[in-house]
Amino acid sequence: MSFPRTLGELRQSPFSERRLASRHVKDELRENLMSRLREGAAIFPGIVGYDDTVVPQIVNAILSRHNFILLGLRGQAKSRILRALTALLDPEMPYVAGCEIHDNPYVPICRRCQELIAKEGDATPIAWLTPEHRYVEKLATPDVTIADLIGDIDPIKAARGGHELSSEFTVHYGLLPRANRGIFAINELPDLAGKIQVGLFNIMQEGDVQIKGYPIRLPLDVAIVFSANPEDYTARGKIITPLKDRIGSEIRTHYPATVEEGVTITAQEAWLDRVNDRSNENGRSAPALRIPKYVSEVVERIAFAARDDKKIDKRSGVSQRLPISAIENVVSNAERRALTHEEKLVVPRISDIYAALPAITGKLELEYEGEMKGADHVSRELIRTAVAKAYDTYLHGVNMNQVVQWFDLGGEIQLGDNAGAQEVLEGLTQIQGLMDKLTKLNIGPKESAEIQVSAAEFILEGLHAHKRIGRNEERVFSAGEKPPKKQERVFEPEEPGFGRKRGFN
Ligand SMILES: [Zn+2]
Repeated sequence: MSFPRTLGELRQSPFSERRLASRHVKDELRENLMSRLREGAAIFPGIVGYDDTVVPQIVNAILSRHNFILLGLRGQAKSRILRALTALLDPEMPYVAGCEIHDNPYVPICRRCQELIAKEGDATPIAWLTPEHRYVEKLATPDVTIADLIGDIDPIKAARGGHELSSEFTVHYGLLPRANRGIFAINELPDLAGKIQVGLFNIMQEGDVQIKGYPIRLPLDVAIVFSANPEDYTARGKIITPLKDRIGSEIRTHYPATVEEGVTITAQEAWLDRVNDRSNENGRSAPALRIPKYVSEVVERIAFAARDDKKIDKRSGVSQRLPISAIENVVSNAERRALTHEEKLVVPRISDIYAALPAITGKLELEYEGEMKGADHVSRELIRTAVAKAYDTYLHGVNMNQVVQWFDLGGEIQLGDNAGAQEVLEGLTQIQGLMDKLTKLNIGPKESAEIQVSAAEFILEGLHAHKRIGRNEERVFSAGEKPPKKQERVFEPEEPGFGRKRGFN
C-alpha cells in the first residue's frame, strides 16, 4: 500500500479529517486496546507474571485515558512495559512533513505548519511515523533542565532566519514537544527537580510551554507515563502535589511471585541461544547447550533468597537482572570447560554458579551487616541457601545415608569446575549409592557424562548445603562435622545391594 504524500491525497484516504482531526494519542491507545481486548489477544506479549496484577490495572488506566505511573523496585520490567505501550499505537501516523513536533495535518499547532498549510493548501507534503518513532524516553536526573525537557530559545536559529528572538520560530524544542502525538516516558520521576516538575505540570494541565519567560501556547497531545521507586515517590516533598494530582493511576509492579515465573523470565531475557549465533569462531558451531532444570532453579532462587535476606537493602530491591546475568555467566563457565575438554555438550553445574559470582555481587545493595561480611561471602551464602531449597524440591525424603556414609568412612572427591566430565565421572561412580539417585532427577546411566556429572554434583552440593557432608575451598567433598551417633547404620533397607550398580560408564 502506498501512503498519501500530500494533504489533498490524505483527505481522500482512510486517514480523513473526520477520523484524525480530533483523535488524540490517548484515544488511539484506547481504541487499539479495545480491539485487542475484543480479539482476546495478548496485551503485552513477553511480560510474564503480571497477567492478574499489573496488566489489568494498566488496561484500566489506558481505557480511562490516564497519564499513569509504575511504582516498583529495580528490575521489575517497568521500562519494558512502558516501551511495550507502542504496540498500542497505529502502525502508521501521518504528520506535516518537516515538522519537528509532528503536527497533525488537520490541526497544526506550530506556526511554521500553520503558515505552510495556509500557503500550500492541499499540496502540503505529508510524512509518516511508525510507533517506535513516537516513543520518547528520558531518565530523570537532578541535572535535567527545562531546556532539555521543554525547550530553549536558539539564537543561531533566530539569526539565520532573521527572526526576532521572541518569535516562536526561534524555539529549539526539547524532548516533550518532540514527543507530540506520541508517548513520553520519564523514568525515576522523583529525581526531577521541582522546577522541572512544575513545567511538566503546566503542560499536562494547560498545554502551556514557558521558555525563558516567553510563553508559547502549545497544546501538546502526549500520553505521559512515569516510573519510580515507591519509597522515593511517596517520600514527602519529592513530588510536587499538583503533579501527583495529575497522574491518573498509580500502579505497583512486583517481582515474580513464583520461582517458575522467574525461571521463565530469566530464560527469555538471558543470552543463551549461542549455538546459532553468528559470533561463533570460524563458522564452527558452539557445542550444544543443555541447562539442567535444577541449575536454572538454583540461579532463580538466589534472587528469591536475596529479596528475603536481612543483609540486603529492601528499598532498592534485587533486580531480575541478577539471575539473568548470573545464568549467562554460568553458561559461559560451562562453555569454557566444554571447549577446553573438547566436550560435545555444555552442561552447567552448581560449581559454575559459584564461578558466576562476578555477575551476582555487584547487583546486591548491602545493609550494614552485609557490608561487614562482604558481598562475596553474602553471595556464597545465598547460593548455598538456593541449592538447599532446590535440593529439597527434587530430593526431599530421598534416603542419602549411604552416600553420606561413604564420606564418613573417609571417602573424598574433588570436583573442580574446570574438571572434564569423563575424568570426574569415574570418581563419582566410586561413591556407593550416589549414581542410582540420579533417577530422581530423571537421569539414567545411559545419559552423557556431562549430564550425569552435573546431576551427581548437584546432589553432593545439596548434601553440603544441608551440612551433611563437608566441602573445602578446593572443592574437595569430605565427611562433615556431625554428632557421632548417626554413624550406626551402614546399609539402608530400601537401598539396592551395596555397590551393585557400580562401574557403569
Ligand atoms: Zn508544525
